[in-house]
Order: sequence, then structure tokens, then C-alpha cells
Amino acid sequence: MKYQEEKTSQNESKIFIDPPAQAAMEPVHSNHSTPPTYESRQDIFKTPEELTDSLWQCIQTKNARTALIQIENATLYQQYVVANDNWLMNNMMARLPTKERNCIADILYHLIDDTGMLIRLVDIRFGIRIGSAQITNPDVLTNAQKIKRYQLHHNQEIEAPWTKSGVIRLYGGFLKLPQKDLREIKAILAIQPKNASLESISGEAHTNKGIVGLRFNDELLNNKEDGEFTEPDAEQKYGKADTSIGTNIFDFTTAHEFGHIIDRKHGYSARKDFRKISGWQEHSHNDLQTLTESIRDSLKNPYPDSFSAQERKLCMRCAEDLIRQHPAPGNEGKAIQYAITRSLNATFEFGNTYSGRPLSTIRPKIAGSGLIMHIRQAFAESMPWLNGELFPDMKRQIHESYRGENWFSYRNSAWTSGKISKYQFRNPEEEFAELYASYHTSEKKGEKTPKQLRKWFEMNVK
Ligand SMILES: [Zn+2]
Repeated sequence: MKYQEEKTSQNESKIFIDPPAQAAMEPVHSNHSTPPTYESRQDIFKTPEELTDSLWQCIQTKNARTALIQIENATLYQQYVVANDNWLMNNMMARLPTKERNCIADILYHLIDDTGMLIRLVDIRFGIRIGSAQITNPDVLTNAQKIKRYQLHHNQEIEAPWTKSGVIRLYGGFLKLPQKDLREIKAILAIQPKNASLESISGEAHTNKGIVGLRFNDELLNNKEDGEFTEPDAEQKYGKADTSIGTNIFDFTTAHEFGHIIDRKHGYSARKDFRKISGWQEHSHNDLQTLTESIRDSLKNPYPDSFSAQERKLCMRCAEDLIRQHPAPGNEGKAIQYAITRSLNATFEFGNTYSGRPLSTIRPKIAGSGLIMHIRQAFAESMPWLNGELFPDMKRQIHESYRGENWFSYRNSAWTSGKISKYQFRNPEEEFAELYASYHTSEKKGEKTPKQLRKWFEMNVK
């Protein structure tokens, strides 16, 4: 399915709509945190009922540590019985101190069958609402409803109910993230197309509302990144594979969207020291002349050697006009013709000749110039950052990041010296979100994150 690559301005909210990736199926792994170690009193219960009775005693006598130790040492079947005793679970969650309560939740969550109980548990444990039906804060609810209306209106999508597997996967992902960061997340909505099936996972962050939308279904939950967002032969080409290859897409996408929310709060991706790592430069779309010059200067061969000074000037004018027109995808050909004709007519009297030849003779020369050719492929709709490789004729890579907004350029070596994914090169905000996901979702924090980015992240964010 096709996604609108766009950013809307609902109450100045910045919405990152990240396109889906494709991946292969992999078996499920559940993640849960290690509870604190207490001197263990090995309580052995013969039946689950003995354990539940004892836990109830613990609640009444406020003996949280004993409750935790008993659950830790219980058999998997006993734990399963406890996890699915809603009355006992509700009492433990409501009445035990936070630390022990959280540890118990982390041990038991993956055994819970009741999705409603799981959703309540996530709320209690992390303060995050799963689905708009769970939202009680009127401001958050209003925002979630706006998002729902927006999804339906623009993308023909609906908010879908969360499944047990979805919430369990989400919970496991939360355990990998800094708890202080989770406080910035208000709600997570599951989104699905209204009249079509979903083929890959994607997400969006409504950054000033703290709301994340995730598109997925249960069949996609264990998919791993295998090439859509990464360069499959990066290792052969540069000696370094893209590090997000093989990561779980659901976990990575969720963390990526959280990264946008954390970034908005702290302004990480706008920092000079962050942008220096990949050599980012931002090129204002409000100054088209300077932008066009930057594109020209990024190219090894912006025009054919045979171009005269006047032809070069004309080519620059056409390039500027082409950016101003910003043709819809597939219409570049027409737009280029129009831009060139307009520039020619503005430069020469209409119907006049150029160097003694009809104006039409220079048109194909300009259309075929490196400058015009690059602009055609560098508009946001073409998603140039997802190209298989670097544009080879560029000294620096430069493209439009979101339609009608500023352009960005980065150093070629940032791409070849070991990257997370191709998507990190959309703009610095996406690079930060990819960095955040890469750092937190790997088995050992940061182990898959490129060295420079990891170093910066550990010094400034972690
Ligand atoms: Zn993003």
C-alpha cells in the first residue's frame, strides 16, 4: 500500500509518517526485565491455589517482597495461573509498592491471556494508554480523536483494536527503553487501512501530543528488517553492513517513533554537534537561488562542458523554476518542459531565436543537464534516501526531505562508513530517531550502533 509522504500541521504538531518496510518472518522472543535479587526464600507450593492464597496473604499483610519472591520461584504453570487471576492481579497492582508491583508485572505480562488486563497493566506499569478507548485525560483524548479523524480523512485508515500479541510485544519493547522517556508517551494507537490488508509495519509520531500510531497486524509482529530500509550489499561495497539489518521491525519502529517525541522535547537533532557527525547541512526552500546554487555545487558535473556561461545561467534559472513549480510525481517531464520554456521566454523575446537557432534546440540540452536530472530525482516524493545507493555524481548528497520544506545534504562518507539504515539520511530528525531505535533495541545497548553516533548518544542522550 502506498503512504502519503507528508507532514500535516494540526495545531503545529509535527507528524512523521514513516513508510513501511518489508521483512521476513522470524520466531518470537519475549523480553522481560530481571527483577532485583533478594535473599531468596525458596517457597515451594504444590498447587497454584496454594500460591494464590499465599499471595493474597502477602497483599493483606503488605509483604510485597515475599510476594515477589514467591512469584519469581513459582513454576511457569503457577505463574500462568496467577497471571490470569484478574482479581489477584488487580489487587497486587493496586496495593503493592511500585517497585515490587513493577517487577511482578514484568515477570507475568507475557503469560496473560486477557487483552483488557494487559492493557490495564501497561497503563499501571508505564502510564501509557493503549488505544483511544483507554484515554481518560480529556486533552489526550481530544488529540487522539483528532488523529483518528485525520487518518480516516486523509488515509482511509481506522483505529484498530489491540491484540494480545501486539500488547505483549509492545510491553517487551518498553522494557528496553529508559523509563524517563516513556513518561513522554501518552498513548499508542493501532492503525489499519479501512478496506485493505496491511503488508508491512510503519509508524507515525504526533510529537507535541505524545501520541504514536503504529500500523501492524499479528502476522507482521516478528518480521525482521531485511532490505527495504537497508542496503543489502553495503558490506561488499564498503566493508560495513547496515546495522539495522535483522532487527525486529515492530520494536524498531516503536522506538523510532518514541525517538521523535524525545527529540522534540530536547531538540537533539537540531544541535550542531549532532549534525556534524554526518555532515548535515540544511538548505532553506525560501531562498531558491541559494538552494539551487547548493545543488549545483553538490554535483560533480552540473552541466555539459560545452555549455556557455549564458547557457549555464539559463540552466540555473530553469532549475530554480522547476523547484518552485514542484511537479507532482510522474509529471516532471512536463514540468521541465514548462520551466525551460518559461525561463527561455523570460530571457529572450517570445518567438525569438537563441544563438541563431530556435529556442527549442537548447531545451533538450538543459533537460538533460546533471542539475535538472538531479532535481527531478531529489524531490521528497521520490524518496531519494531510499535509493539503492548514493547518487554517484554527487560530491555531497542533497535532497528535499518533506514536500515543500527545507532541503538537506550530508557527507558521502556518512553513508559509506557504516550506517544504521538508508532511512537515517532523510533528514537529521530521522537520523536521530533511527539512532534512538538502534541504540535501545539491540540486545546489548548500542552494540549495533555505528561508533560515532553511539559515542555522541552516550555522551548526550542516554
Ligand atoms: Zn521517523
